[in-house]
Amino acid sequence: MHKSFLAGKIYTGEIYMGNFTGKSVLVTGAGRGIGRGIAMAFAAEGANVVLGYCGNDEAAGKTLSEIEAAGGHAALFKGNVSDSGEVSAMTDFAVKTFGRLDVLVNNAGITRDGLALRMSDEDFDRVIDVNLRGCFLCCRAAGKYMMKQRSGAIVNISSIVGISGNAGQANYAASKAGVIGLTKSLAKEFSAWGIRVNSVAPGFVETDMTGVLSEKLRESMLSSVPLKRPGQPEDIAGAVLFLAGQSASYITGQVLTVDGGMSL
Ligand code: NAD
Repeated sequence: MHKSFLAGKIYTGEIYMGNFTGKSVLVTGAGRGIGRGIAMAFAAEGANVVLGYCGNDEAAGKTLSEIEAAGGHAALFKGNVSDSGEVSAMTDFAVKTFGRLDVLVNNAGITRDGLALRMSDEDFDRVIDVNLRGCFLCCRAAGKYMMKQRSGAIVNISSIVGISGNAGQANYAASKAGVIGLTKSLAKEFSAWGIRVNSVAPGFVETDMTGVLSEKLRESMLSSVPLKRPGQPEDIAGAVLFLAGQSASYITGQVLTVDGGMSL
């Protein structure tokens, strides 16, 4: 048994990552950064991927072209995750285009950093609106389809600052802590329909979001990473595919930290 498992497909990725051939996957914020990395990894594993995106048509179009050039299948949907009408339209689109909805990855997110005493109402509300409310709206809309199918996997992208907090990020840390509470609650609610809900908490990942940080802050963050390198979108994608796939079929309501040891 052990021998045949090892001699089988574990090294090809088919068993280890989960086989996503023909599965329908929706990734929000898929035009760039971590979302792009996640979408490309699913497509490389044979999934049909809906690339949810908000602002940048060119970046989203580039991700689509790259997936198609590599022989993958994907489709674009432009919409704002904090608008419930647009979120419903996005999940309807995924089901119409690819026949069902097997995996939802809530990746779309923003920052509006600042010290709490100087933080405007608008900056607080906007971050909660996109990061937490957007995640809820997408889970609710996808959950309706997944319940009918009696199967599905949802992976919500949180952050290590949602676990530990961070000065200058009260709004962002609160939104990401909220994503963890949402994940655990929905894991309990949705389990009756065979739907698993988990979260990934990245540390410092090199994307446009962190590209705005000063060199000094970047160096200080990197100095606290035991693995001595920043994370890349592919590092997060690996954890997301694991949690969405067959290898994690007995895992729900969990938060997987992917931070090179930064939060140890
Ligand atoms: P990014 O800014 O490069 O990408 C975020 C994506 O979300 C963009 O494509 C953007 O268009 C999209 N988006 C923003 N608001 C949206 C909205 N209202 N509706 C739909 N899409 C919207 O950032 P990233 O670094 O790739 O981050 C991806 C996720 O990972 C975010 O949730 C972020 O909070 C989380 N995260 C990132 C890091 C990091 O170090 N980069 C660390 C921890 C967690």
